[in-house]
Amino acid sequence: MARQAQAAIIADNERRIEVMNLSSAAPEKGFGAHTLHTEAGPFLWTTLTGCWRCEQPMLLWDAMRSNPRQQYDSAPAVQVKSKVGITRYENHPEVHRLVDQWIRETGADIGKARIELRRSKTKGEKYSAFVCPSCEALAGQFFISCIYAEHWSLISAPLLRKADLPDPSPYLHPRKQPAHRPGPETQQTPQNPARGRPPGTSRVSDARWARQIREKLALDEQHPAEKTVPFPKQSAQSGLF
Ligand SMILES: [Zn+2]
Repeated sequence: MARQAQAAIIADNERRIEVMNLSSAAPEKGFGAHTLHTEAGPFLWTTLTGCWRCEQPMLLWDAMRSNPRQQYDSAPAVQVKSKVGITRYENHPEVHRLVDQWIRETGADIGKARIELRRSKTKGEKYSAFVCPSCEALAGQFFISCIYAEHWSLISAPLLRKADLPDPSPYLHPRKQPAHRPGPETQQTPQNPARGRPPGTSRVSDARWARQIREKLALDEQHPAEKTVPFPKQSAQSGLF
């Protein structure tokens, strides 16, 4: 591909990503931070976004299986999948159940996007895509994966282990204090952001996120999303699938 054409595609995709981010927000900003905790359920993040065609707000989500043998003390940073196949974990009944429960408990009056099989025009492969519940417009997974971390909220996580805090007894009972008093480093533990951090806050910075997106675009200039996702309105809308 000619260098100029490639640059034009990258610029166009960057513009679409910008528009996608402008129309997306973290659900916790509208409905409050609310995280469900399950025994060994998924890590589940949602974003609130507007349909590019009819502007209807809808919830999109990304889910990651947890390891039942692992004890987590914080949630991993959200890393939304950029490609999906015919089946996807987001369509698992348990994941749907948790999204529905979160909607019920927060009173969020926002509909879920639907997940439907769509065919990629460029490769002809079927895949499970998010579509608008009102007008059935496709929300391309590649562009969903480019929504900044700050626009996602953690809405469900497996039970998180409480951060290990120093045993308070040496302070309450000075006589039982061990020979080596806890050093300043230990005493400052509650302020240490790496340990007492609430779930959902270990996020990739926007600068790093943007850099990752630029790298993705440069490596993947023929990504089918560029052909299958007419985003935003100004671009060609015909021949989607
Ligand atoms: Zn729509």
